[in-house]
Amino acid sequence: METKSVPEMFGENVFDDRVMRAVLSEDVYQSLRKTIDEGAKLDTKVAEQVATAMRDWALSKGATHFTHWFQPLTGVTAEKHDSFIEPSPDGGVIMAFSGKNLIQGEPDASSFPTGGIRATFEARGYTAWDPTSYAFIKDKTLCIPTAFCSYTGEALDKKTPLLRSMEALNKQALRILKLFGNEDAKYVHTSVGPEQEYFLITKEMYDKRPDIKYTGRTLFGAKAPKGQEMDDHYFGVIKPKVQEFMNDLNQELWKLGILAKTEHNEVAPAQHELAPIYSSTNIATDQNQLMMEIMQKVAARHGLVCLLHEKPFAGVNGSGKHNNWSMSTDTGINLLSPGATPYENAQFLLFLCAVIKAVDDYQDLLRLAVATAGNDHRLGANEAPPAIISIFLGDELTAILDAIENDTPYAGAEKKIMKLGVDVLPRFARDTTDRNRTSPFAFTGNKFEFRSLGSSNSIACANMMLNAAVAESLKIYADRLEGAEDFETALHDMIKKTIKDHKRILFNGNGYDDAWVKEATEVRGLSNYKTTPDCMPHLLDEKNVKMLTAHKVFTEAELKSRVDIMLENYSKSVLIEANTMLEMSRRMILPAIECYENKLAGAVAAKKAVAPSVACAYEGDIIAKLSDLADKVYAGANELEKAISAANGESDIIAESLSIKDNVITAMNDIRKAADEAETYVSKECWPLPSYGDLLFSVK
Ligand code: ADP
Ligand code: MG
Repeated sequence: METKSVPEMFGENVFDDRVMRAVLSEDVYQSLRKTIDEGAKLDTKVAEQVATAMRDWALSKGATHFTHWFQPLTGVTAEKHDSFIEPSPDGGVIMAFSGKNLIQGEPDASSFPTGGIRATFEARGYTAWDPTSYAFIKDKTLCIPTAFCSYTGEALDKKTPLLRSMEALNKQALRILKLFGNEDAKYVHTSVGPEQEYFLITKEMYDKRPDIKYTGRTLFGAKAPKGQEMDDHYFGVIKPKVQEFMNDLNQELWKLGILAKTEHNEVAPAQHELAPIYSSTNIATDQNQLMMEIMQKVAARHGLVCLLHEKPFAGVNGSGKHNNWSMSTDTGINLLSPGATPYENAQFLLFLCAVIKAVDDYQDLLRLAVATAGNDHRLGANEAPPAIISIFLGDELTAILDAIENDTPYAGAEKKIMKLGVDVLPRFARDTTDRNRTSPFAFTGNKFEFRSLGSSNSIACANMMLNAAVAESLKIYADRLEGAEDFETALHDMIKKTIKDHKRILFNGNGYDDAWVKEATEVRGLSNYKTTPDCMPHLLDEKNVKMLTAHKVFTEAELKSRVDIMLENYSKSVLIEANTMLEMSRRMILPAIECYENKLAGAVAAKKAVAPSVACAYEGDIIAKLSDLADKVYAGANELEKAISAANGESDIIAESLSIKDNVITAMNDIRKAADEAETYVSKECWPLPSYGDLLFSVK
């Protein structure tokens, strides 16, 4: 363990503002700062000097390589390492790194998903430095955060549309701020604090489970006698092995400038959570990717495996990621924080309404932004927010909105009817019922918490949709208000109209209740897309294409390619699971059942040889039962095989994903049901897989 203090260690592997200030000349520093803060174009001379300083700093830290670090649409980060070495005339080498090396790279894009964007003859893609996210050193390699595009400029990654969405929101939010007389703010950025859930199991157990190895989750496994029913794990005492892992992880994250803050046990046994302090969305996104990677590496050092799959264990809570999101100005004003003056309050309500309108108008985009094969196991199951998107505001804020909508007195405001921009918004306490964990999108005092994200999702997807949708609401508001004769009346009317038009999305009750599903879909007309193949094609709905292209977050070609890529990712993931299941059924599960049947049959023969009249009821019953279950597994495996080839035979990706959802997954569920029941009868000795109990309680 390191002996350095936390402040000494914090950010030591990051080329952050402190380093820049120390190693760059004043001119170069100011020029780079302008690029970082205001998106100003970077001079090539400046880039050259930054590159040299970055190289010297990296070499002083023992780095030998550099890489453009980017986030292709596979969902994981990509890096191709180049060493700094260049041959020198004397036969030796020098360590070189130019401005061009820093600004642009040319990885071969042909092995990354492009969804048909890139013509096959043009296999090159390029990576472009994102100076707003600091470079860092990992494994002796200088990592430069970059965007990844095709040669014709289409985004092939998650960072590019995220940055575009932040710019779109910035532009529209500044228009609104001007209307409220705020001329100081130079830019508005969105911030995110992602809470990350994960499971830890021992490497020993992991090695015995081909399903976890190939797919990240268990495809078989009968329920353990003890699961999470005692509620004794949540916030419980952290086990020593886990604590050692967490300590080591924190240090690694701190060195990378990640503000790892809170750690605790989660609801399920072996489940934990780590939350950093929030930062600008772009940085939070990069750091969350990095965090997921470091978690797995540190776990390996401790003889553990960190599972980031959304549903590693059936019947036990899955893992999500809570995306705490807010908007604030460079002058430090959180636009989702109620203010002290009438004007500030009206401004707060307008931004709040912008979010309400955005979430209602673009429910489908928020839903599909979190859709993956893994997350389909959580959303809608009785543990995670439902697949229906709704907003929790808490009773008090809801009462205030009701009063505004109906021009009725609000009890908290001395029974006065409130006129926005004139009256002070009644002070309201942060609603304690925000512990209502059943809401997918909850207002928590000065931020919204979007809870539908899966634990392995990049947060980029959810945030680009959220930013774009809010930018659209703000644009509509700004267009109307800029032309208004009487600003205050127009403002009041618009807030009222938003509440009236969009109150169907507001719901403070229990999102897990069946009655809510009925009300949401049948009475309120909210969408309820249960699976990835159900929702993904809606990315191309006319209203969505119109909005996303109008704000320049995506081009139409990019959107088309993304639907294909996301559905391909879905199909590939499920097909890997299906093939793993097929192999395990035939080569592990059926032989295990047979092995135990043989043992029992042998026992019957042996017993009868000694005492011919014994009944052998136990052996007879179990053999009959297991024989029946084995037939079911066998028949299920044959069905699954047929379903896999039928899906593979579909000509387009939408049909393939629907066939997988309807047939492959059904066949998988049938096999699992029979196999899990068989597990409860077969002796431990014959069963080749560690049980749920072994897995969930493996870490001491
Ligand atoms: P909890 O949800 O457990 O009550 P908090 O609400 O304090 O915890 O914080 C959860 C996450 O929200 C943390 O990552 C925190 O940094 C982040 N957060 C707090 N304030 C904001 C904000 N204004 N914008 C975005 N994220 C925030
Ligand atoms: Mg929270």
